[in-house]
Amino acid sequence: MSNEQQTIMLSALQHYAYCPRQFALIHVEQVWAENFFTAHGNLLHERVDSYESEQRGNVRYERGVAVKSQQLRLTGKLDLLEVEGKPATKYFPVEYKRGKPKKEDWDKIQLCAQALCLEEMRGIHIEAGALWYWQPRKREPVLFDDALRRVTLLAVEGAHQILASGKTPMPTTNKKRCRACSLVDLCEPDTFRRDHSSDYIAGLFAE
Ligand code: SF4
Repeated sequence: MSNEQQTIMLSALQHYAYCPRQFALIHVEQVWAENFFTAHGNLLHERVDSYESEQRGNVRYERGVAVKSQQLRLTGKLDLLEVEGKPATKYFPVEYKRGKPKKEDWDKIQLCAQALCLEEMRGIHIEAGALWYWQPRKREPVLFDDALRRVTLLAVEGAHQILASGKTPMPTTNKKRCRACSLVDLCEPDTFRRDHSSDYIAGLFAE
């Protein structure tokens, strides 16, 4: 498959949003390391996937819904889609996450991308969804407003550019993120930063 046709897994967008280098290490160089956080996240999704779809009152709860977008070249699965009414009048995607709600948009970007896929597939408009967090065991509502749609589309575009170039970007300058990253030992961000700065200084004095 050429890079032009390459599709991206929805779950990979949060890797890009967290750190473009992390996305490239996993999806271009195909290295992977499982730490407690990723292992626990996988376990949570296995549990969610094992539940069946069901109808309760006016709402149908669809689980493990496969989605894709040809326009955005995305594919993946929704943890839960709540469909209200018969015929359906409202769609509400829900994604289950380990840990606590975050200040950053990583999880929201993945959820918004799910909504964009559904909108394209079913010719509908989705206003909002929710993220369900394991630690507080509560739902955080997410509005798919213009700003979130914009950053989501930028993340999709950036991820496709990395795949097309096949190049791994330099480490993020956000060292706090590196400390919580499952790939820190494989990535060696400090070594790369050091090498890059010495190359840069050598370049300044080169003839
Ligand atoms: S260790 Fe830092 S630079 Fe490397 S992939 Fe993780 S977050 Fe990105």
